[in-house]
Amino acid sequence: MSTADVVRIHSHGGPEEMKFETMELAAPGAGQVRLKQTAIGLNFIDVYTRTGLYPGPTPAVLGVEAAGVVEALGEGVTSLKVGDRVVYNGLGGAYASHRNAPADRMIVIPEAVKDEDAAAVFLKGLTVWMLIFEIRRLNPGETILVWAAAGGVGSILVPWANALGARVIGVVSTPDKAVLAKEYGCWETILASEDVPARVKELTSGKGVPVVYDSVGKTSAEPSLRSLQPRGWFVTYGNASGPVDAMPPARLNQGGSLIMTRPGLFHFTKERADLERGSAALWGAMRSGAVKADVRQRFALKDAADAHRALEGRKTSGATILTP
Ligand code: NDP
Repeated sequence: MSTADVVRIHSHGGPEEMKFETMELAAPGAGQVRLKQTAIGLNFIDVYTRTGLYPGPTPAVLGVEAAGVVEALGEGVTSLKVGDRVVYNGLGGAYASHRNAPADRMIVIPEAVKDEDAAAVFLKGLTVWMLIFEIRRLNPGETILVWAAAGGVGSILVPWANALGARVIGVVSTPDKAVLAKEYGCWETILASEDVPARVKELTSGKGVPVVYDSVGKTSAEPSLRSLQPRGWFVTYGNASGPVDAMPPARLNQGGSLIMTRPGLFHFTKERADLERGSAALWGAMRSGAVKADVRQRFALKDAADAHRALEGRKTSGATILTP
């Protein structure tokens, strides 16, 4: 029996619930591989899992995304071999030095992509693929509104939208983040403390935008709705400030027959063929230079609680990696 270093919660709560522990790790079961993980992606979803906003049992090893090397194969695994570099997302238990995981959720990392970069983009980049291709294909010439434009998802969404010919207005909390959002490709930025709908109207000759990508949630939902043009799309895909308050369907009608959707990536990649399709699109966007990994913070796995404090405290930009 081998062991793994993990970060685990025994009850939901603040970052202080995150314990660095050593666990026994059994041999991989049928259909599984054992991974030696090299880079773990930090995601806001990890915060929701820790607090219990996204319910789940405890004790639980946090994290849903990592890159690593295949160390051993369980019975029946033929799609991978020992030594393959792979990345995954959507599998709980990623805050670990080693783990067992289903082989059919692994994607082999292209040779040109470093492990760390793969862990930085795999969940966030597929989320962007879902947003700009699968939910509603972004059209060239459209001006769109993106919240948290200097964050992890923002660092991929902004340049990829640009590559499709869209113009991005980014919302950020500080002037420094505004500078970074412009580097990512924002046409204009708005500070979250400003009157966002009024600024959007100013920038769009009074029209508003056809689509808003809103990951902030509670505090941004109403400003998002008021920034849309008639028949616009309110894509509310995160809750960094808390879950969006309930609203009557009539609110969408008042805004001009608006369309609202609350997507989750894992519904879009449940089928292996879709996971591969999204991955191919992401690697292609990296190959063309449209999308780059931008790792701006690194923490040792044992310090994952500090990483959570930074993410929740709006102190991070771009992607954050935990190193086992
Ligand atoms: P980010 O790096 O974007 O961090 C979150 C950002 O949200 C902060 O940096 C901050 O930017 C902004 N923010 C605004 N209000 C708050 C607040 N009250 N507390 C904390 N942050 C706030 O995180 P990720 O890239 O990991 O994720 C971005 C969003 O995308 C998250 O909401 C996440 O849940 C969502 N997501 C959804 C998925 C889905 O399938 N639906 C999949 C993946 C991610 P600023 O300081 O500029 O305001």
